[in-house]
Amino acid sequence: MADTVKGPVCGMELRPEDAVASEVHEGRTFYFCSHGCHRAFVSDPHRYGHAKEGHGGQEGHGTHH
Ligand SMILES: [Zn+2]
Repeated sequence: MADTVKGPVCGMELRPEDAVASEVHEGRTFYFCSHGCHRAFVSDPHRYGHAKEGHGGQEGHGTHH
């Protein structure tokens, strides 16, 4: 089985080798499905890097182009 990780911005499951970008934050490596997700994370890593579970407040992939 392929190892998948969850994108911290949109919550999408992706494989690290498929990620378009990655970012290390507080010792953890996060992977991103798009440059938009990567930029969003870099602009506010604490919002996403420590995101609480169970709140689907993000727009998901609707803003990816
Ligand atoms: Zn994404």
